[in-house]
Amino acid sequence: ATPTALMVGTGRGAQLGILIKGPEVLEQTRRVDTIVLDKTGTVTTGEMTVHDVVAADGESVDDVRRLAAALEQASEHPIGRAVAASADHLPPVEDFASVEGLGVQGVVDGHAVVVGRPRLLEDWSQHLDAGLSTVVERAQGEGRTPVAVGWDGRARGVIVVGDTVKPSSAEAVARLRGLGLTPILLTGDNAAAAEQVAARVGIETVVADVLPADKVAEVQRLQAAGKVVAMVGDGVNDAAALAQADLGLAMGTGTDVAIEASDLTLVGGDLLVAVDAIRLSRRTLATIK
Ligand code: ADP
Ligand code: MG
Repeated sequence: ATPTALMVGTGRGAQLGILIKGPEVLEQTRRVDTIVLDKTGTVTTGEMTVHDVVAADGESVDDVRRLAAALEQASEHPIGRAVAASADHLPPVEDFASVEGLGVQGVVDGHAVVVGRPRLLEDWSQHLDAGLSTVVERAQGEGRTPVAVGWDGRARGVIVVGDTVKPSSAEAVARLRGLGLTPILLTGDNAAAAEQVAARVGIETVVADVLPADKVAEVQRLQAAGKVVAMVGDGVNDAAALAQADLGLAMGTGTDVAIEASDLTLVGGDLLVAVDAIRLSRRTLATIK
């Protein structure tokens, strides 16, 4: 490959809003036939909305909202930002830790608080009562994401959040298909929510409920089956999979960890620019040949 053509490709990339780690990156895209898309923040806006706050029997909705919001002040996750914004005048958090792809924990007002996937609370023996379980099932059926809230060893409530698909995602998926790529939606969110987003943007293959480690495993599985895999993501939970992919594309609106793990950055965070990136690299390589 002539270095000059690759350098020109890199310069053209910058004009399109694509930051390319090195000219040689473009060479990796030639054989890409599969594109794995993260859901939250990649296909969806990542600006989540709180739809409902429900308390367990004998608990107060205000406490559920306040302790969850206080804890999530320290979170970078889209769910965390939405929950934190749902209340104000919040007490500080101590000993904050995130359990990647599952939730967050910390101490608020002297209470050991946990917020995350219902399954995380179940794993920690904080069982959801019948009322809360119903809320979880109903929310999932509606394509939303139920987040469980517990403190001092007991599940106390559920906060239902929801995502919005980016206006350009469906068109981007159609164009990726037009380039001969098979799109796959990969997410840590629940299957019902993932299926709804997939249906809306025209993706047939959905891999949901995965942990960050399973995201890497899914990319490896596709590679072992002979696929050449591009992956687009934005979160801390996507970083390892982005690094494993033959071509990693990070949303410029995403976390630094995802950007560092990737070969390309889509500056404005628009999935249509991923289409430009693939087309640009193919054109650049055609020039070289
Ligand atoms: P995605 O693959 O869609 O980007 P993640 O792997 O980041 O999703 O998260 C998977 C699931 O873990 C979320 O749908 C949510 O249920 C839970 N979760 C992760 N982070 C948080 C948080 N800060 N607060 C509450 N729940 C969280
Ligand atoms: Mg994401």
